[in-house]
Amino acid sequence: MSEAVLKTNGLTKQYGKVKAVDQVSLTIERGDIFGFIGENGAGKTTFMRMVCGLIYPTGGSLELFGVSAEKELPKMRRRMGALIEHPAVYPNMTALQNLEVQRRYLEMDFGKEPGKALEELLDLVGLQDAMNKKAGKFSLGMRQRLGIAIALVGNPEFLILDEPTIGLDPIGVMELRELVLRLNSKRNITILFSSHNLAEMAQIATKYGFLHKGKLLEVVTAQEVKKICEEKNMKLESYFVELLLQNR
Ligand code: ATP
Repeated sequence: MSEAVLKTNGLTKQYGKVKAVDQVSLTIERGDIFGFIGENGAGKTTFMRMVCGLIYPTGGSLELFGVSAEKELPKMRRRMGALIEHPAVYPNMTALQNLEVQRRYLEMDFGKEPGKALEELLDLVGLQDAMNKKAGKFSLGMRQRLGIAIALVGNPEFLILDEPTIGLDPIGVMELRELVLRLNSKRNITILFSSHNLAEMAQIATKYGFLHKGKLLEVVTAQEVKKICEEKNMKLESYFVELLLQNR
């Protein structure tokens, strides 16, 4: 039986009169690459921030790895990693030093040679040649990859990536896609990610969640969408637009 990594029940965040996230109930199962799709302001980042414990919901509840008790959630959150908005990196430190800071913060014990484990992480994200370079000198793509490496220091089972491809050039986008697929297949990491690049998303997501004005319109498997798109001879963008029009 598949295991729920994240389950939300009527999760809501209201700012004044605006319901940024409005009663969202969804389940992300172990192994999923869950693509969050929605227009600007649909509530994707707000949802992710609540899951990470960066902001409190104003309604509903969430369950991580089967645990919903408020007191236990911080412990469960140690089993996840996240890159939300800009990666928080120390510009005057090298890539390796940035990872070391995170390792100490999380009190991760990587045995006798922690540096080696961190080097392997930088290798995994394709920064092996830049590990001793200061992060302040990194390109946007390198900074994104460093942000992902930082999110991986805690050895997460669940990774949240908010628009990880934003601002990347086509090669950077392709490399990030390969990285996400590798993390999912080789490290068994379940992934929730958002992107406005639907063509890109169509290449990696196993499930889609469509958000509109804070509400979850639909959760559907990539296979189902693919079948419908093939039958109707249309792209994921058109599927999304049709869904929006139906919900106007
Ligand atoms: P984008 O694709 O542009 O990143 P998004 O789907 O991530 O958008 P959110 O950033 O979650 O959307 O915003 C959802 C709604 O909540 C928007 O209307 C936004 O203005 C509002 N919102 C988000 N954070 C706050 C806040 N701290 N105070 C007030 N309103 C907020």
